[in-house]
Amino acid sequence: MTDFGIGKALKELGLQETNEGTSTGNQNFSSGKIIESYSPVDGKLIGKVKTTTKADYEKVMQAATEAFKTWRTKPAPLRGEIVRQFGEKLREKKEALGKLVSYEMGKSYQEGLGEVQEMIDICDFAVGLSRQLHGLTMHSERPRHRMYEQYHPLGIVGIISAFNFPVAVWSWNTALAWICGDVCVWKPSEKTPMCGVACQNIIAEVLAENNLPEGISCLINGDYKVGEFMTKDTRIPLVSATGSTRMGKIVAKEVAGRLGKSLLELGGNNAIIVTQDSDLKMTVIGAVFGAVGTCGQRCTSTRRLIIHESIYDKVKNAIVDAYKQLRIGNPLDENNHVGPLIDTDAVAMYNKALEKVVAEGGKIIVEGGVLSGDGYESGCYVKPAIAEANNNFEIVQHETFAPVLYLLKYSGDVTNAIEIQNNVAQGLSSAIMTNNLREAEAFLSVAGSDCGIANVNIGTSGAEIGGAFGGEKETGGGRESGSDAWKIYMRRQTNTINYTTDLPLAQGIKFDL
Ligand code: NAD
Repeated sequence: MTDFGIGKALKELGLQETNEGTSTGNQNFSSGKIIESYSPVDGKLIGKVKTTTKADYEKVMQAATEAFKTWRTKPAPLRGEIVRQFGEKLREKKEALGKLVSYEMGKSYQEGLGEVQEMIDICDFAVGLSRQLHGLTMHSERPRHRMYEQYHPLGIVGIISAFNFPVAVWSWNTALAWICGDVCVWKPSEKTPMCGVACQNIIAEVLAENNLPEGISCLINGDYKVGEFMTKDTRIPLVSATGSTRMGKIVAKEVAGRLGKSLLELGGNNAIIVTQDSDLKMTVIGAVFGAVGTCGQRCTSTRRLIIHESIYDKVKNAIVDAYKQLRIGNPLDENNHVGPLIDTDAVAMYNKALEKVVAEGGKIIVEGGVLSGDGYESGCYVKPAIAEANNNFEIVQHETFAPVLYLLKYSGDVTNAIEIQNNVAQGLSSAIMTNNLREAEAFLSVAGSDCGIANVNIGTSGAEIGGAFGGEKETGGGRESGSDAWKIYMRRQTNTINYTTDLPLAQGIKFDL
């Protein structure tokens, strides 16, 4: 195939054939075994990354511990200036990094660029926030006393991320953590290690240009065992982990066992409710992009469409027609809508889901299948499929990280649809398509969607950095990115100052000596 500018992108990002997977900034080292990263796009080897041993990890932790002592004393707006420079570097490298994301993860080049844009956006957000890490002041009950609260940096933030947003999730955490005065240690997914090295190279340049110490941004690499170095480490007060619910349950238990904090961003099972008052064109675009974008590998991908019975056939036919127009192929070729799954294990899960939905009584209405032949040599390209199903099928209750969309029917009013929508273990993203104010408000009300994200006339997938991102129930309860998500990266302290010559006690308690 044509190279699509990959060679040039790798060079621009400072990537080698074999890369050190452990870094404290400009010091890169590693003595662990090698991960070979193969592209799901064409099955070719992109490069190799050496993993982190326990001894390497100790060096990282020493550098991070030392760096924190300096970094926390820098005024927050000056920390913001470093994040501003990081955002500028990302602007310069946007095309190269977007291309690598597309090639290593398999999402379309446009989505790769979008992911880097999210990184830039969160940097901009964090720069402004660096002057707004506000606490409150309170009125003391004691005369001539002042009471207020302030936020201090936490320390070392451990970041564990998933393959499907191989660069953005890191920056959602780091941009905020850095302006809050924390230092970060990141373990990217073992499926996208080259993206991790590329990001670390970019921030290392900024830190070196500003003569900042090693350890403000650290990278470690490897599988779950390397992740466990951090979950078990009492020197890490906050572990931010993005990935499957299975992983989140293990991490939550481990971190809570040592009374650390965890920020969990786990799996979703996202639905769009389509009511009688929906706009068909908007519904089709929202549902199809939500279900097939990133080949169904977004945590916010649309998995279920809950359609009113009176319009069920009309919506079904329109969506089936839209699926006929989908072009599946190399995601770097902008003519294609759908790229590959991450690897052949994911293909096996997809196949299993299609078998299971039929076994449980569902009906496939858009056939799936694995593509082979010219352009599909990696074995990771699959056809987006649609099945008619019931919400209580075990497979429908489960997040299959692939482009499989389930059509579900509801009757009566919107409360029935909301009940179906909420009746899953996960609680990440949800949407309603309606022009009816009563339905929209019911969906957003206290008795409405139980998800962390609830949209009206927008699909489930994609979010802006300005809002807090995350979900309830088995999605883990964490919030990242905008709004006041920054607070989890800091520790709150309440201060009371007495400017009298007496020592009055609270609640009027008398204690005379
Ligand atoms: P995964 O759970 O297999 O792996 C995620 C990360 O966790 C990897 O870095 C992995 O090495 C690490 N890990 C796994 N077990 C661990 C353990 N016991 N201790 C420490 N670290 C461990 O997930 P994946 O396949 O990479 O990603 C897909 C999943 O991520 C989907 O479920 C998706 O919905 C979810 N996701 C959620 C969000 C969100 O914001 N809610 C965002 C992206 C992805």
